[in-house]
Amino acid sequence: MTEASGSEPSIFTRIINGEIPADILYEDEDCICIKDIAPKAPTHLLIIPRRPIPRLADAGEADKALLGHLMLKVGDIARQVGVDEAFRVVVNNGAGAGQTVFHLHIHLLAGKTYDESALGF
Ligand code: 5GP
Repeated sequence: MTEASGSEPSIFTRIINGEIPADILYEDEDCICIKDIAPKAPTHLLIIPRRPIPRLADAGEADKALLGHLMLKVGDIARQVGVDEAFRVVVNNGAGAGQTVFHLHIHLLAGKTYDESALGF
Protein backbone atom coordinates (compact mmCIF):
# COMPACT_ATOMS: atom_id res chain seq x y z
CA MET A 1 0.00 0.00 0.00
CA THR A 2 1.20 3.49 -0.75
CA GLU A 3 0.79 6.30 1.75
CA ALA A 4 -2.19 5.64 3.97
CA SER A 5 -1.53 8.41 6.46
CA GLY A 6 -0.87 11.33 4.18
CA SER A 7 2.41 12.19 5.91
CA GLU A 8 4.52 11.47 2.81
CA PRO A 9 3.76 12.84 -0.65
CA SER A 10 1.85 10.25 -2.66
CA ILE A 11 3.30 8.73 -5.81
CA PHE A 12 0.83 10.88 -7.73
CA THR A 13 2.00 14.06 -6.00
CA ARG A 14 5.54 13.10 -6.97
CA ILE A 15 4.40 12.63 -10.58
CA ILE A 16 2.56 15.99 -10.48
CA ASN A 17 5.74 17.61 -9.13
CA GLY A 18 7.81 16.08 -11.93
CA GLU A 19 9.89 13.93 -9.58
CA ILE A 20 8.71 10.69 -11.20
CA PRO A 21 8.09 10.32 -14.94
CA ALA A 22 4.68 9.47 -16.36
CA ASP A 23 2.86 9.60 -19.69
CA ILE A 24 0.83 12.77 -19.25
CA LEU A 25 -2.14 13.14 -21.60
CA TYR A 26 -3.67 16.24 -20.11
CA GLU A 27 -3.09 18.71 -17.31
CA ASP A 28 -4.62 21.91 -16.05
CA GLU A 29 -4.45 23.91 -12.84
CA ASP A 30 -6.64 21.43 -10.95
CA CYS A 31 -5.83 17.98 -12.31
CA ILE A 32 -3.62 15.76 -14.37
CA CYS A 33 -4.34 12.74 -16.57
CA ILE A 34 -1.73 10.01 -16.96
CA LYS A 35 -1.57 6.52 -18.41
CA ASP A 36 -1.75 3.81 -15.76
CA ILE A 37 1.61 2.07 -15.39
CA ALA A 38 -0.05 -1.37 -15.22
CA PRO A 39 -3.05 -1.09 -17.58
CA LYS A 40 -6.07 -3.32 -16.95
CA ALA A 41 -7.57 -2.44 -20.35
CA PRO A 42 -6.21 -1.20 -23.71
CA THR A 43 -7.05 2.32 -22.56
CA HIS A 44 -6.42 2.81 -18.85
CA LEU A 45 -6.02 6.40 -17.73
CA LEU A 46 -5.98 8.04 -14.31
CA ILE A 47 -7.52 11.45 -13.71
CA ILE A 48 -5.93 12.86 -10.58
CA PRO A 49 -6.60 16.11 -8.71
CA ARG A 50 -3.51 18.09 -7.83
CA ARG A 51 -5.01 18.52 -4.35
CA PRO A 52 -4.12 15.27 -2.54
CA ILE A 53 -7.48 14.17 -1.15
CA PRO A 54 -6.68 10.66 0.16
CA ARG A 55 -10.00 8.96 -0.64
CA LEU A 56 -13.31 9.92 -2.20
CA ALA A 57 -14.86 9.58 1.26
CA ASP A 58 -12.48 12.30 2.49
CA ALA A 59 -13.80 14.85 0.01
CA GLY A 60 -16.03 17.53 1.46
CA GLU A 61 -18.20 20.44 0.49
CA ALA A 62 -15.10 22.48 -0.38
CA ASP A 63 -14.20 19.88 -3.02
CA LYS A 64 -17.55 20.03 -4.82
CA ALA A 65 -16.33 22.05 -7.80
CA LEU A 66 -13.17 19.99 -8.06
CA LEU A 67 -15.10 16.70 -8.15
CA GLY A 68 -17.36 18.11 -10.85
CA HIS A 69 -14.33 19.26 -12.80
CA LEU A 70 -12.76 15.80 -12.63
CA MET A 71 -15.91 14.12 -13.94
CA LEU A 72 -16.23 16.60 -16.81
CA LYS A 73 -12.58 16.00 -17.67
CA VAL A 74 -13.24 12.26 -17.82
CA GLY A 75 -15.72 12.93 -20.62
CA ASP A 76 -13.43 15.40 -22.40
CA ILE A 77 -10.47 13.04 -22.24
CA ALA A 78 -12.58 10.08 -23.37
CA ARG A 79 -13.55 12.14 -26.44
CA GLN A 80 -9.93 13.20 -26.94
CA VAL A 81 -8.68 9.60 -27.05
CA GLY A 82 -11.71 8.39 -29.03
CA VAL A 83 -13.37 6.11 -26.48
CA ASP A 84 -16.37 8.26 -25.52
CA GLU A 85 -18.88 5.73 -26.88
CA ALA A 86 -17.81 3.02 -24.40
CA PHE A 87 -15.77 3.51 -21.29
CA ARG A 88 -15.94 2.61 -17.65
CA VAL A 89 -15.10 4.78 -14.64
CA VAL A 90 -13.85 3.28 -11.39
CA VAL A 91 -12.93 4.88 -8.07
CA ASN A 92 -11.56 2.56 -5.42
CA ASN A 93 -12.16 3.89 -1.91
CA GLY A 94 -10.13 2.25 0.86
CA ALA A 95 -7.80 -0.72 0.92
CA GLY A 96 -10.73 -3.09 1.26
CA ALA A 97 -11.99 -1.85 -2.10
CA GLY A 98 -8.61 -2.23 -3.75
CA GLN A 99 -7.25 1.29 -3.33
CA THR A 100 -3.46 1.20 -3.29
CA VAL A 101 -2.57 4.86 -3.82
CA PHE A 102 -4.16 7.12 -1.21
CA HIS A 103 -4.49 10.16 -3.43
CA LEU A 104 -7.91 10.32 -5.05
CA HIS A 105 -7.95 9.23 -8.70
CA ILE A 106 -10.52 8.20 -11.27
CA HIS A 107 -9.76 5.20 -13.46
CA LEU A 108 -10.95 5.60 -17.06
CA LEU A 109 -11.01 2.20 -18.76
CA ALA A 110 -11.91 1.35 -22.33
CA GLY A 111 -11.10 -0.88 -25.26
CA LYS A 112 -12.38 -4.14 -23.89
CA THR A 113 -15.85 -5.55 -23.58
CA TYR A 114 -17.75 -4.60 -20.47
CA ASP A 115 -21.32 -5.61 -19.84
CA GLU A 116 -23.89 -5.02 -17.15
CA SER A 117 -23.29 -8.37 -15.46
CA ALA A 118 -20.08 -7.34 -13.70
CA LEU A 119 -18.62 -4.16 -12.28
CA GLY A 120 -14.97 -3.28 -11.72
CA PHE A 121 -11.94 -3.45 -14.03
P1 5GP B 1 -5.90 2.10 -6.98
O1 5GP B 1 -5.63 0.62 -6.84
O2 5GP B 1 -5.33 2.89 -5.85
O3 5GP B 1 -7.32 2.43 -7.29
O4 5GP B 1 -5.12 2.50 -8.31
C1 5GP B 1 -3.79 2.91 -8.34
C2 5GP B 1 -3.34 2.80 -9.77
O5 5GP B 1 -2.15 3.53 -9.91
C3 5GP B 1 -3.06 1.36 -10.20
O6 5GP B 1 -3.87 1.03 -11.32
C4 5GP B 1 -1.58 1.39 -10.52
O7 5GP B 1 -1.24 0.58 -11.64
C5 5GP B 1 -1.30 2.86 -10.79
N1 5GP B 1 0.04 3.28 -10.45
C6 5GP B 1 0.72 3.01 -9.31
N2 5GP B 1 1.94 3.57 -9.34
C7 5GP B 1 2.02 4.24 -10.53
C8 5GP B 1 3.05 5.02 -11.13
O8 5GP B 1 4.14 5.23 -10.60
N3 5GP B 1 2.79 5.53 -12.36
C9 5GP B 1 1.58 5.34 -12.99
N4 5GP B 1 1.44 5.89 -14.21
N5 5GP B 1 0.59 4.59 -12.45
C10 5GP B 1 0.82 4.05 -11.23
